[in-house]
Amino acid sequence: MQETDELRARLHATEQALADLKAEVARNDAKMHRTQQRELRLLHAEDLQTLLHELIDGLRRNHKLEQVTVVLCDPDHDIRHLLLAAGTPAESFDGLLMVETLTGFAPQYVALRQPWLGAFAACDHQLVFPKSRGLASVAMIPLTHRRKLIGSLNLGSADRKRFTREHSADFLAHLGVIASYCIDNTVNRARLLRSGFTDVLTGWHNRRYLQVRLHEELARARRDRTHIAGLMLDVDHFKTVNDSFGHAAGDYVLQEIANRIDAQIRKSDVAARYGGEEFVVLLPDTSIESAVALAERIRAAVSSAPYDMPGGEQREITASIGIAGVVPNEDDDDIKTLGESLIAHADVALYEAKADGRNRVAVDGGR
Ligand code: GH3
Ligand code: MG
Ligand code: MG
Repeated sequence: MQETDELRARLHATEQALADLKAEVARNDAKMHRTQQRELRLLHAEDLQTLLHELIDGLRRNHKLEQVTVVLCDPDHDIRHLLLAAGTPAESFDGLLMVETLTGFAPQYVALRQPWLGAFAACDHQLVFPKSRGLASVAMIPLTHRRKLIGSLNLGSADRKRFTREHSADFLAHLGVIASYCIDNTVNRARLLRSGFTDVLTGWHNRRYLQVRLHEELARARRDRTHIAGLMLDVDHFKTVNDSFGHAAGDYVLQEIANRIDAQIRKSDVAARYGGEEFVVLLPDTSIESAVALAERIRAAVSSAPYDMPGGEQREITASIGIAGVVPNEDDDDIKTLGESLIAHADVALYEAKADGRNRVAVDGGR
């Protein structure tokens, strides 16, 4: 009898152990699945902004962490500028830390070759986790580019047993490799995009970029039933600047004009250098009246003060502006043609402003 009891107890214990094992396998399976899903999301991130969100917010949520931060070494402010150009400045990411040197930022970077796991210590980790409240254990995963350390991905947990030296760091090292690859990839993509869409002289967007954005903004205006206006500005008698003072002086004038226009427009406006001395500003959700008021401000700013020319000379410069606008409707299914038409109408108005004597604003009669 006693033997049967013992056997039953042993069987029960074995069954229990088996059930525990099964549960662990299932947990690991689920964990593996979650990890794979997470890695896929990182690999699919189309741009740097999305990737940073996936790393900082995605990993925190997915792995139930207290805080995730990314430290990136950006000595030339290259990544910072790419983020700025994309409309998402580095400061807008809670958890992104851009530093000019890693070892100057925190001494741990001197020896960070493998993921470091251990107890959170304010004196060591506060800089890497600026909002360190509630952290008990942390993992610092090196990010590399061509074997060179470029930063770290930092995971912070409220559970002191979550990251300890006894834990295997393989999974975290793997995550680090994937994250490093994705950062490199999206930074390169942003660089490429910027070089293809940017005018070198003024740093403004170029005509190609305008075309892409024009289509996007028209599609949005059609969906929201809003008015979209476009300004086309052409410098008056610009050829004479080149002829009298040389091309370098002409280039300077173009840069200065771009600055003066910049100071008048909103962030949501889309400004581009359209051609040599022609600039276009797209004004989403803007009436013709508001567009005229803005155009007048731009016209006044361009001619407000003379431009410094070589040899201490000064030169007054004016510009003419043409305006056109449209509320796209459902029948306008050809956004490309609509975009061409908007620009063409602004050009016609610009021609009228020139014909009327220059240094003025003219509005197109309608489509
Ligand atoms: P209008 O008032 O009729 O516009 O006269 P304009 O002289 O401005 O007109 P036009 O289009 O004949 O001249 C534009 C000049 O702009 C011709 C070209 O040499 C010059 N230009 C175009 N791109 C650049 C540039 O990047 N730098 C410089 N310095 N000049 C440029
Ligand atoms: Mg011109
Ligand atoms: Mg001109």
